Amino acid sequence: MITTLEETEKPGTTGGHRPSLQQSDYCFETLALHAGTSADPVTGAMLTPIYQTTTYRQEAVGKDKGFKYSRSGNPTVSALEGRLAALEGAEFGSCYSTGLAATTTLFLALLRSGDQVVCSQAVYGGTVRLLRQTLAPFGVEAEFADTGDPDAFAKAVRKSSGLIFIESPANPTLKLTDLDLAADLAKQAGALLVVDNTLLTPALQRPFDFSADIVLHSTTKFIEGHNATVGGALITRDAQLHEKFLFTRNTIGAIQSPFAAWLTLQGVKTLPLRMARHCENALRVAQFLENHPRVTKLTYPGLESFPQFELAQRQQGAGGALIAFEVEGGVEAGVRLMNSVRLCALAENLGAAETIITHPVSMTHGAVPPEQRAAAGITDGLVRLSVGLENPDDIIADLEQALDGACKEGRIQ
Ligand code: PLP
Repeated sequence: MITTLEETEKPGTTGGHRPSLQQSDYCFETLALHAGTSADPVTGAMLTPIYQTTTYRQEAVGKDKGFKYSRSGNPTVSALEGRLAALEGAEFGSCYSTGLAATTTLFLALLRSGDQVVCSQAVYGGTVRLLRQTLAPFGVEAEFADTGDPDAFAKAVRKSSGLIFIESPANPTLKLTDLDLAADLAKQAGALLVVDNTLLTPALQRPFDFSADIVLHSTTKFIEGHNATVGGALITRDAQLHEKFLFTRNTIGAIQSPFAAWLTLQGVKTLPLRMARHCENALRVAQFLENHPRVTKLTYPGLESFPQFELAQRQQGAGGALIAFEVEGGVEAGVRLMNSVRLCALAENLGAAETIITHPVSMTHGAVPPEQRAAAGITDGLVRLSVGLENPDDIIADLEQALDGACKEGRIQ
């Protein structure tokens, strides 16, 4: 009987979720299925309903059941918030219409004109665009640093740093940032440490174990996992930070829709199983690519050839689902390869059940200035592969035929 989990569905008046600390009694796989939800008290329905409602009838002025208006809070969204907070080992979660809506809320809630953010140089392109093109005109200063290099990272963090925002592994180079070091630097500077944990999820990496203050997710990726929704989340152990996020989310209208939250609640149930299989499949595919004569550069944190292999073992335990590589023949051959796949999908997402192949420079990282891309190692020929849940033999066979064609100039257009 999961009684303590059932007790957790107690909505607050401003939305968001405050799960019971007793959730820590349960293992990760159990929380992925049960945290934040309980059987419907009226019908016994096992799944939390999609509360498709704008507003909530109030018994009397000032007397409501915890929800007033679905821009500030919705029961389906609250259920997901409880589940994600529990999975990260934290008390508070808030969900957003997209991952970038979560990032926007984070920055608007915490930054003021004149504040400095230290951000990983290799980071999702939309995060760079938000800082450089939308927030810089309001006086927010972003310093993009190689947070995977301890000296460069320490140099970038000044006493005036208000926020340290890291992505580890970085999208798309897969360079890792040492989370212990990040936490030390944040403490010394009096800054808050934010970890975008989208690429690994709490199934592989739990940033709060490394003293992070805030964890950010694009739930669009592995958390929902089925290419069906866009969504985002901010998780924290700090009640005051959580209240700031809820206030800002309500102010700018960035809450997730109940249907997207409901689909995400179903997707996340299999997160532990999916992440294990993603990692197994990615290792097989990475081994194949590493030994392929046409592959000139291969980066996968689960291989001993990965420059930060020891850190990867300590921090994330497994290699994850993403592989970055380059092929003989440079940019043109890389593009031909991506145009030649049949099973893998040439697309912009990652973390889905289906294998996705992406050209970061023309797709996800097009908004990153060329100088920053060059400094971060995001080359024009870089191919990003998000290994899915197909049989790995089929993924390998598809890549093999695409590689054969792409590297024989002129054979495949
Ligand atoms: N963080 C990372 C690491 C991402 O890869 C992405 C999107 O690709 C985002 C955040 C933004 O998420 P969304 O696309 O859901 O807005």
